[in-house]
This record gives sequence, structure tokens and C-alpha cells, in this order.
Amino acid sequence: MIESIIEYFANISSAHRTIILVGGLTIFSLIESAVPLFSLNYRRWKHGGINVFFTITTILVNFFMAFLLVKTSDWVVAQEIGILQWIDTPLWLFLIIGLLLMDLLGAYTAHWVEHHVTWMWKFHVIHHSDQHIDATSANRHHPGESVIRFAFTILATIIVGAPMWLVFLYQSMSVVLSQFNHANIILPDAIDKILNKIICTPNMHNVHHHYRQPYSDTNYGNIFSFWDRIFSTYIEVDNNKLKYGLDTHMDKPETNNIITMLLSPFRPYRQRIDYAEEEQL
Ligand SMILES: [Zn+2]
Repeated sequence: MIESIIEYFANISSAHRTIILVGGLTIFSLIESAVPLFSLNYRRWKHGGINVFFTITTILVNFFMAFLLVKTSDWVVAQEIGILQWIDTPLWLFLIIGLLLMDLLGAYTAHWVEHHVTWMWKFHVIHHSDQHIDATSANRHHPGESVIRFAFTILATIIVGAPMWLVFLYQSMSVVLSQFNHANIILPDAIDKILNKIICTPNMHNVHHHYRQPYSDTNYGNIFSFWDRIFSTYIEVDNNKLKYGLDTHMDKPETNNIITMLLSPFRPYRQRIDYAEEEQL
């Protein structure tokens, strides 16, 4: 079983990786039509169109840089560099430790840094400027942010000592989990409570897209939910009070314009305000 997973991801083609991304998007969009959290009272296709544009640029960046990742991974394995290369574990544990660390370094840490380093935040703004969060929001990333995230994935691969099958397995899970935790769906409470112990559910991630601080600086997780708990960035709020978007970028003609959004990291920084005192969700 584990061997066949490894076999599959060691040789996965770009076509299959794209099918996983598009397949996930299709499945979650269908579920959103059936059990939406917020009403679908917006122009879903237009909204999706802009987000699909940024998803395609994300795919292109990853496609053209993938060889760097393959080279890095082959190198760390050959040189026996990185945590997984230094420990001796059964294969199933190797896989779990690998996924955990790739998610911690390649997603949670990358995301936290993007929120705290101004020039990186200016790229991440595009993701937060979306005022309707659904599965298509998951990969609404400025191409510059895709490069930043790619750099973190390279760094994670080196520190973890990850073989290529693990990197591809991690990336595939990361894409689908991100679509899932951005999806505009309501899970039954009981199921959410159980899932939320291990993975990031929509119910957990929604507050990260509230338009104001400090709420937008919480629940950074992508695959596993416990990093936020361990590093005290975890929060639970009444999701019905949420308002999606970004206080500094609420003008829809601006945030729905591809060209304006592509240029926005190169415009002056807009100061955010922390509303901790006056707003309780
Ligand atoms: Zn964010």
C-alpha cells in the first residue's frame, strides 16, 4: 500500500498533478452548490474567472520551476542531508514525519512569514483581497507569491531531507486541502469537531479571511491544524459574524482587476489597523 503510493508519486506526471488540482476544484465547487455556508449571491463565474487566472499562473510558476525542486531533492537524498536522512524509521513513520514537517515549514511557516514581512505581505494581499471565499480562492496567488512559496518548499525539502515522491505527495495533499479549507461549505458540527483535531477545515480557516486584524493573523494552517494550536495562533469565533476581504483593499473594481492586482505589490504599502479592542467576534 505505502509502496504503491510512493511508486505513484515518484513518477507522477505534470498532467496528473494538474488533474488532481482541477479535480479537487470541480468536486468542491459541486459541494458548494449543494451546501453553501454563505449564500451564492454573487457572480460566481466572474469571481471564479479571476481566481482561475491566478491559479493558472501558480501552475505555470510551479511547472517551470519544478526541475529545481527535483534537483534539490535528488541532491539532499544523495548527500544524506536533512532530518529524514538522519533518522531510521519504518516507512509509514517516515511518510508521516515527512508530511508533518513539510506542512510546518513549507506552508505554516511560509504563510506566517508572509503576514509579518512587509514586502512579502504585499504579494499575499491578492489572496486576502478576495471578498467571496470559495474553493477557487485557494490558489488566488500573485505569481510573485507562488515564487515565494516555491522558495519555502525548496528550503523545507532541504531541512526535511525529502525524497521527490514525498515532495509530490505533500504538494498534491496541500493543493486539495487548501481547496477544501477555503470551500464555502458547512460541515456537520460533529464531523467538523473530529476533523478539526487533525486537519484544517473550512470552519477553522474562514476567520483567517476576516477583513480586519487581529483575526486575519490567526489560523495560518493548511494541512494539519495543530501547528496553530502549538504556536498559539489558533482561534475559534462565531463564523456568522465574519466579513471576508482586506480592510486596506475593499474596493471591488480594484481587487477584481487582474492588471491592478498584478501591479499592487509594487505600489506603496497600506498600513493596517489592529481592531482587537473594539471588535470581538
Ligand atoms: Zn494569509
